[in-house]
Amino acid sequence: MKALIYNKDCDKKIELVEIEKPKIISDSDVILKVTLSSICTSDIHIKKGFVPRAKNGVVLGHEFVGIVDEVGNGVKNLKIGDRVAVNCETFCNECYFCKRGFVNNCINGGWELGCRINGAQAEYVRIPYAGNVLYKLPNNVTDRNALFVGDILSSGYFASLMLDVNKQDNVAIIGSGPVGMCAMMTLRIFGVNKIIAIDINEKRLEIAKNKGLADYFINPDKVDIEKEIKKIAPYGADGVMEAAGGKDTFNMAIKIARPNSTIGIVAMYEENQIFPLPVCYGKNLTYKTGGVDAIHCKELIQLISENKINTDFLITKSYKFENILEAYDDFENSKLDTLKIEITY
Ligand SMILES: [Zn+2]
Ligand SMILES: [Zn+2]
Repeated sequence: MKALIYNKDCDKKIELVEIEKPKIISDSDVILKVTLSSICTSDIHIKKGFVPRAKNGVVLGHEFVGIVDEVGNGVKNLKIGDRVAVNCETFCNECYFCKRGFVNNCINGGWELGCRINGAQAEYVRIPYAGNVLYKLPNNVTDRNALFVGDILSSGYFASLMLDVNKQDNVAIIGSGPVGMCAMMTLRIFGVNKIIAIDINEKRLEIAKNKGLADYFINPDKVDIEKEIKKIAPYGADGVMEAAGGKDTFNMAIKIARPNSTIGIVAMYEENQIFPLPVCYGKNLTYKTGGVDAIHCKELIQLISENKINTDFLITKSYKFENILEAYDDFENSKLDTLKIEITY
């Protein structure tokens, strides 16, 4: 079968190669036929060498849906032919961390697919702990509807929970990209007061506006961000999510947060950031980082099925799997305008 692998020794760092179809190794495995996948910014981070734990030669891809093709003896809740969404974190449900809901840190799993073990940018993929991490889709939820459940939608939801905000709160989201937009959607469901979308890309702000994801739209390249925030929330934002990972966005989060608020950081930085502790001291801020614990996939599928969340608009381009190298080029080079790409099989 064909698969896209990370190869740090080749020019493009990724390669479309022929490999053997995966086999069941453990009783908890399922072999999935991939029907739709997407490219995540983390795939690009691996390609650029920013993810040291990524294994050279691994099949990339961790955002996908598929159809169950083979089932290990220990998997009782799935059968051949089931259409499923996939959690990008495979977890055992038994270790110290899993028992506390911290599946991202599962000592037997976590984010392995498309990083440490072969992922989904291939015709078939082996899923460990399949009974815990594959979710049957209701008939009214399409593959496209469910594509982001196990990764960016979970990240947006997790990030929103992290902020600990309530209905009176005005929440600022730095980064109106796919994760930022997923967070805006879930904050709407939580019913916060006002949502402030911040991005330097006007097109992304425009999409957020057209979709009604936020109430205010600010481009920090064009205005004084602190002043603009204070027009909406006089003491600063009641919660700030950093989903951009830009050069100055960590600092921006600290500047626009009101004293005693929480900053949730879900951005994946490409370099170290400076923590301005003297400025932070009197602000009594709480910082949280993630590393999504994707434990709400079933609830998210339910919300999609009830038409309360729809992420289809995030898919702005479509490529066939055989043209996936082109899709990567596209995603990497025009990524500010391309939100998400779907790969069809
Ligand atoms: Zn991802
Ligand atoms: Zn575990």
